[in-house]
Amino acid sequence: MQDNKVALITGGSRGIGKAIALKLAQAGCDIVINYAGNTEAANKTIEEIKALNVNAEAYKFDVSNKDEVNENIAKIIEKYQRIDVLVNNAGITRDDLFIRMTDDKWLDVINTNLNSAFYLTKPVVKVMMKQRFGAIINTTSVVGVYGNAGQANYSSAKAGLIGFTKSLAKELGGRNIRVNAVAPGFISTDMTKNLTNIDEYLKLISLKRFGTAEDVAAAVKFLALDTDYITGQVLEVDGGMVI
Ligand code: NAP
Repeated sequence: MQDNKVALITGGSRGIGKAIALKLAQAGCDIVINYAGNTEAANKTIEEIKALNVNAEAYKFDVSNKDEVNENIAKIIEKYQRIDVLVNNAGITRDDLFIRMTDDKWLDVINTNLNSAFYLTKPVVKVMMKQRFGAIINTTSVVGVYGNAGQANYSSAKAGLIGFTKSLAKELGGRNIRVNAVAPGFISTDMTKNLTNIDEYLKLISLKRFGTAEDVAAAVKFLALDTDYITGQVLEVDGGMVI
């Protein structure tokens, strides 16, 4: 259908996912983004990507719903016949101290941030195995490496993504499919806009600023397109956090 590489980015309508979509589009990839409900943001992102002269489409589905994932991935594969880059990026927070954490808060975060990667990656890997090429990047977090009070659910999901990344790298390397993760620190997006105690967080960051979504996108583009010999790694994009 086309010669461009095809990149699928979940949660690509806003924040880090949007910056990744734009960065991969600048590199010449056709872009498929997924989002949960904010159609206005998704449409705006698609317009910005198309202005870069690549194909771009948005699919609205809930990454934590296996049936919705399978239905939509089947449509995407039918249309594009290949997926070269998969970025499992969609994510949410439902923070609370462990002692107060409800089952719903636990399950929402595990389903959206971790089980989603299992659902998405399964059908995509089948296509990548046939093409004998693929780059998968999972968006984890520094809290998946170091833990964080008030985020037992989120840090468990993000730590799970790291195990997922390293295991798949071992299973799929022989098929020329690389699997890596980026672990952002504090990045300025909607997810972090209501944080208080900013000065306390800045003390932990060597570069003394929050990162931008573009800072993370540059790392994802590097792992996806600029290297052929890195797999199973977790790249911390955190301005040098000392936790
Ligand atoms: P964000 O600005 O809140 O954007 C979240 C994106 O995920 C949106 O596109 C949203 O779609 C989508 N999404 C949420 N739930 C979904 C679902 N169930 N199904 C499909 N799409 C869904 O978040 P962000 O800050 O860019 O974070 C992106 C990723 O980076 C997340 O995995 C997050 O955990 C991780 N991360 C962020 C930071 C940070 O400091 N911001 C640090 C470390 C890791 P709608 O627009 O439709 O809502």
